[in-house]
Amino acid sequence: MTERIGTAIIGGGIAGCAVAHYLAEEGETSILVVDADELGSGSTGGSFGGVRQQFSTPLEIELSRRGLDFWRSAERVFESPVTWHANGYLFLTGQPEIMTKLGEAAALQRSMGLNDVHVLDAEQIRETVPWVGTDGVLGGTYTPHDGKVTPTEGVAALVRAARSRGVSFREHWPVRALERDGRTWRIVGPDILESDRVVVCAGYWTTDLMRPLGLELTIRPMPLYAAITAPALTGQRVPLTIDLDSGLLIEREADGLLVAILLEENPPAYGHAQMLEDFADLARVRAPSLADLRIARNVVANVDLGGDGHPYVGLVEDGLWMIAGFGGHGVMHAPPVAKLLAQTIAGRPDSTLDISSLSPWRSPEAAAEWMVASKKG
Ligand SMILES: Cc1cc2nc3c(=O)[nH]c(=O)nc-3n(C[C@H](O)[C@H](O)[C@H](O)COP(=O)(O)OP(=O)(O)OC[C@H]3O[C@@H](n4cnc5c(N)ncnc54)[C@H](O)[C@@H]3O)c2cc1C
Repeated sequence: MTERIGTAIIGGGIAGCAVAHYLAEEGETSILVVDADELGSGSTGGSFGGVRQQFSTPLEIELSRRGLDFWRSAERVFESPVTWHANGYLFLTGQPEIMTKLGEAAALQRSMGLNDVHVLDAEQIRETVPWVGTDGVLGGTYTPHDGKVTPTEGVAALVRAARSRGVSFREHWPVRALERDGRTWRIVGPDILESDRVVVCAGYWTTDLMRPLGLELTIRPMPLYAAITAPALTGQRVPLTIDLDSGLLIEREADGLLVAILLEENPPAYGHAQMLEDFADLARVRAPSLADLRIARNVVANVDLGGDGHPYVGLVEDGLWMIAGFGGHGVMHAPPVAKLLAQTIAGRPDSTLDISSLSPWRSPEAAAEWMVASKKG
């Protein structure tokens, strides 16, 4: 017999689990989350977990404000272990035009009530993070109360909360196709599910699921090669630090550091060996004490890249919704966006923040979010 449910959520990453929780909170019943693999095993599981207020458009800054609230309060709200590491966030540049844009973004954040953003010159950067080499650096922006989380802890908290409201979860259940039969959606996987409503939350895989339905999305996977070092910078402040000119990224990871280079595209044949060679060259200038650090292990995961820096969120067609394509910002922004989407689906949209501009059917916008934190050419 075909199983019938009210809402099928496809994908149990941070977005899908948050949609499930917030829909249940809105009073929706008969909700099932299916995942091709394990909950939190997609981009969410490989994420660096940085949560920052530093964005350049009013919408992303507001989403950050809400995302920061979500992560800072998650442990208390969900009564589940979700550790907040208040490490801070630091962007650096030696390019005058990027410095100007960082200053403008900081002014916008302040105008929206987020006063905790500091525009620093090279000397102030040396005082704040003495391990940063400032040769050629003009300045940067620093938000000391931004932080870092373990995204799978957030997934676990959301799953627990959703389960307590009756949501079901099914792992190792890959959806192969979505078919419409009148007002009913048929979800074709290991079995057939029928539902009144589907919410696709399948990260970068969403592109393939939507194509047969006539929606061509630009979301695509890009491997991000990173490494965890042996213990380093013990006792020192290590904000999540990104040199916007080179893409060099350094953040605290337990006693060691996580190091990576954020690129808009990986060059052909790129991998850990090349990344670590480039890291050592860049670190000799930007973080000299780290250039010859021992690497404890390599890590890699696919980022959900593509688009204009904003996620794709909203109605695709009658009964079919989606939320995906966070472009590397989904840990911080998916929980608040999932809440806004759940409220919209339930017919009670949040009147204080309009997300209709995020429609999956939008054409590429001129006002793209530029602070996507990869190397700026
Ligand atoms: C290395 C790295 C670093 C990052 N750093 C940050 C950061 O510092 N801060 C930040 O905010 N974000 C960061 N991100 C981005 C962030 O992790 C993603 O934007 C976010 O996790 C996306 O969540 P999601 O739920 O949309 O997708 P995912 O976590 O990818 O979840 C999608 C789920 O859908 C499932 N699925 C796919 N296809 C199907 C199917 N056909 N049937 C059933 N299930 C399916 C998958 O198994 C998966 O579990 C980073 C990402 C990576 C990879």
